Amino acid sequence: SKLRVGLLFGGRSGEHEVSIISARAIAQALSLEENANKYAVLPFYIQKDGVWQAGEVAQQVLTSGVPQEPLSTTPNLWQFPPETEEVDLWFPVLHGPNGEDGTIQGLLTLMQVPFVGSGVLGSATGMDKIAMKMAFAQAGLSQVKYKAVTRAEVWSNPCVFPKLCDDIEATLGYPCFVKPANLGSSVGIAKVRSRQELETALDNAATYDRRIIVEAGVVAREVECAVLGNDHPKASVIGEITFNSDFYDYETKYTPGKADLFIPANLPDVVAQQIQEMALQAFAAVDAAGLSRVDFFYVEATGEIFINEINTLPGFTSTSMYPQLWANSGITFVQLVDQLIQLAIERHSPVS
Ligand code: ADP
Ligand code: MG
Ligand code: MG
Repeated sequence: SKLRVGLLFGGRSGEHEVSIISARAIAQALSLEENANKYAVLPFYIQKDGVWQAGEVAQQVLTSGVPQEPLSTTPNLWQFPPETEEVDLWFPVLHGPNGEDGTIQGLLTLMQVPFVGSGVLGSATGMDKIAMKMAFAQAGLSQVKYKAVTRAEVWSNPCVFPKLCDDIEATLGYPCFVKPANLGSSVGIAKVRSRQELETALDNAATYDRRIIVEAGVVAREVECAVLGNDHPKASVIGEITFNSDFYDYETKYTPGKADLFIPANLPDVVAQQIQEMALQAFAAVDAAGLSRVDFFYVEATGEIFINEINTLPGFTSTSMYPQLWANSGITFVQLVDQLIQLAIERHSPVS
């Protein structure tokens, strides 16, 4: 009989809409070629208020791509659809908070059903840019200078704030990037060039997260590497993103035509190999599993490679970098989703 795959999408995050598009591409791939004989898709849609929908409502959202608006009543968050019990394996296709950050992974772990991708630790470490950078530093991966800041330092103590800004100016300089630690899609990120902008950006970032990171700005090419596997993962060819905006912000990411992907990136072989090596080290450093996309800054003039971040549930639409990198490395979209499911089964099998 077919393995019943619970496709989990939507979610309480700013990347709700992207998640629906990613899930639709995955559902389609699960219904093609040999996958059709192996897998049956059960769609599970998490509304923006956190309520789970299965069956026709979920299928409707998947097919139409249009989010189902939550009811105005207080949601009952502990009521899961009865279809939940029919799932043999979960495929979370959720980006950002409450999906990519270990929260859903904790729930699925408690359900004792295998799931695709990283577990609690890998997801949480990969999502929190401060924890992530600490893990990368420990692994010896080179990254730009940064400083971790808390909301309390920004908001609660008027004596601390000026000193904090002085310190950032002295150690990181301008331009620097102010980021909420636990978001994605560039939400809440600001590139700042002056004291005034720094203060505003810190205050704004504090509205998103208790944890904030400030990084020295680097002028570099942005290159990405896909990783697939568990304990012996593989790295894909390298891809590059180019755009004309000031940085790769939300608008550039999601407005068609504003950014271009080049696969494989035009890089010297040694550089590509070093990036692949670093991607695999980063994957291990945060304890990722299944899949990740690891993003880098490459400073052509000096040959320096800085790791920027790992994304443990990267965008997975048909045009997204992650599946495109594998397509260019010889694994089709249809094969990729099959491999991810097999990796989930392998990872969750009891040690014999
Ligand atoms: P997200 O997880 O939201 O994608 P990133 O840390 O990748 O956040 O930052 C988003 C974008 O901001 C990057 O793709 C890059 O264009 C720009 N950026 C972020 N940090 C730096 C930096 N230290 N130097 C230069 N550009 C940066
Ligand atoms: Mg990210
Ligand atoms: Mg990024």
